[in-house]
Formats: sequence, C-alpha cells, structure tokens
Amino acid sequence: MSISVIELLEHLIECPSVTPKDEGAQEKLAAALENMGMTCHHLPFGEDEEGRNARVPNLFARIGSDGPHLCYAGHTDVVPPGPLDQWTYGPYNPHIENGVLYGRGASDMKGSVAAFAAALSAYIEEHGAPKGSVSMLITGDEEGPALNGTIKVLEWMKEHGHIPDVALVGEPSNPDHLGQEIKIGRRGSLTGRLTVKGKQGHVAYPKRADNPLPRLVQALAALTLSQMVLDEGSKFFQPSNLELTTIDVGNTADNVIPESGRAVFNIRFNDNWTGEKLDKHLRTLLDETGIDYDLKTTVGGESFLTRPGPWTDIVQKAVKDVTGKTPTPSTTGGTSDARFITNYCPVVECGAINATIHQIDENATVEDLENLTAIYKRILELYFA
Ligand SMILES: [Zn+2]
Repeated sequence: MSISVIELLEHLIECPSVTPKDEGAQEKLAAALENMGMTCHHLPFGEDEEGRNARVPNLFARIGSDGPHLCYAGHTDVVPPGPLDQWTYGPYNPHIENGVLYGRGASDMKGSVAAFAAALSAYIEEHGAPKGSVSMLITGDEEGPALNGTIKVLEWMKEHGHIPDVALVGEPSNPDHLGQEIKIGRRGSLTGRLTVKGKQGHVAYPKRADNPLPRLVQALAALTLSQMVLDEGSKFFQPSNLELTTIDVGNTADNVIPESGRAVFNIRFNDNWTGEKLDKHLRTLLDETGIDYDLKTTVGGESFLTRPGPWTDIVQKAVKDVTGKTPTPSTTGGTSDARFITNYCPVVECGAINATIHQIDENATVEDLENLTAIYKRILELYFA
C-alpha cells in the first residue's frame, strides 16, 4: 500500500519541530521511507552551547545507486507558533475542517515533504523502482541560521558519491493556487552597515563639536537616490532593490550633538550583480560624496538562476498535466536552500501555496495536497520516462 499524504502529514505536524528541534519528525519520515525501500542516513551537524552534542538533525534517503539521479530537498523544521491560544485547533494538533488541514508546517513545508514521499511510493507501486535514483535531502535547519543543514549535507553527499543530476526543492512556490509559479532562481541579498563619525558636544557650542548626522543623511541620499539606477532588471529578474531598514543615533538628549550615526540597509540584487561588485559600487557612490564613512557589508547569498531547459520543462509540464495551467518561471521572493544546491546541479522550486505560511492557523487544502502529490508523481514519470 502506498503512503497517504494526509496520514503522513498529520504524523509530521504532531511533532513540534520548531527549528532547530526535531521532536521525532525525521524518525517518523525515515520509517515511512525505509518501508518503501529507501536507505536512510541520519546526519546531525553542529554542536550545542557546550560544544558537545550534535544539534541539528538532517536526513538523507536514497533508492537506487545509478543515474539519472533526482533529489528532492525539503525541511521538517518549522517556525515558532506564536500565541498558542490564537490557534483554532492548536499548531501541533492536525485537524481537517471543510476540506482544509490546519497545523504548523501544513504548507511550509511538511505538506510538501509528505506529498513527495507519497508520490514516490505511488510511483514505485505503479512502475517499480525508478530506473536510476531518487533521493530526499531533508534538513532541520532551514528556518534557522541554515549553517548545519543543507549546506553540510551537500558536502557529505559529495564525499559519498550522492550528488544528484537535478534537484527539486519543495518550498511553497505559489501565491494563491497550484499551477501559478515555479521558482527557477532567486535574488541575492546584501546587508550594509554604514557608520559616520563626528565629535560629541553641546548644541550651544557647535564649533567645539562635529555633528555627523548631516553627513549621514547626505551619504544615505547618495545611496538611496542611486536605488533607481541600480539596474532595470534582467530577462528573468525584477530590478535590484535597496531598502533602508534602520537609522540609529541612540541620542536621548536634545542638547547634545551625537558622536556618531549608523544606518542599516538591505539590497536584494539580481544577476546583473555579485555581492563583491555591488560592494564596490556602493563605495564608489559614497566616495563621490567626499564623506568619511565606515561601511561593512555581508552577503547572505548570491543571486542564482537555473536557465530554462530540460529540467525546468519537465517540472512545468508536470504542473500543467495536473492543474491544466502552465506555471510562470519566477525568481521573486525570499531566499531558500536552493541557493546552496545550485552550486551542484540545476535546481527548480515547486511546492504548495504560500498564503498562510508562518501565520497563525497555517493550513493547506486536502485537494491541493493530493494535487501536489500528483504533480510530484508526474515529475518522476516524466524524468524517468
Ligand atoms: Zn520553508
């Protein structure tokens, strides 16, 4: 008997696996995967505060040892529930009402993980073991810092000859309904911390002080006015965008000229840039103002793109075969673990609906969960045809 997506999802939701905790979620999943003939490797990475025990649970499961090799990537950790009393049925008490399944992770993304497991078991039941390999890379560190999850499992996979030919990330990729979008890339992210220093003093004696704030304002103007001309977007990406996120002086007195002012901004950038190129560009703009400043930048991830080709075609066709709609290849939204996988093989994101993710009463309809399972099964059929 093949796995039921709803039954497996309910078992997973019952585990309060708030990142980086697992609470038995991956054990339950592994039991189901082993049942259908997959070999499971539990791969905990990272240390606890005392530097002793591995903290973040990860799971790699594979069936088959030859190519072609399709890898599904997902996570079993979830974001915190928020105020428990605001949940209609509780975050870890899966409940179906009028065809809607409620519970933390229903959409992001235990629902997708259960759907892929159900799809693979239905595929095996109908067609036998795939002529090649199917694997699942499941992390418990996607909603957290993502340091001891996918990135480390990929290194382990490389060491042990498990690098796939293509990867499918099951993050919720649709705004409102199945068939809308698949993600073929993501923008990069750069955070900048800008400090302008002066000399503290009394507002009544400005000659004895040096107010840094007019210069901070001028520097920020140079950066934010340039926002419009960072670029105009590219074939698959929207224009890069700079957002000021905070301006801090921390001055509580109205008769003191502050010693320094600091601003933080984040830029989501497209494939016209790399983090390094963008850093240089920002410094050129700031240098042109003649202001003495300190800028520290950190790059959370570079932008990446899986160019439309055979793999994106398969995913698009599978979605169309099930939903009747051809999904748009998109690069919008926040970042995901696909940013690590893209360094190894072509990666496409195709999953559930993101309308209720990270919210109170997160949910997914039973119909969508069954259709997502059908989409994943169709992807397997088209890939191994
Ligand atoms: Zn997610």
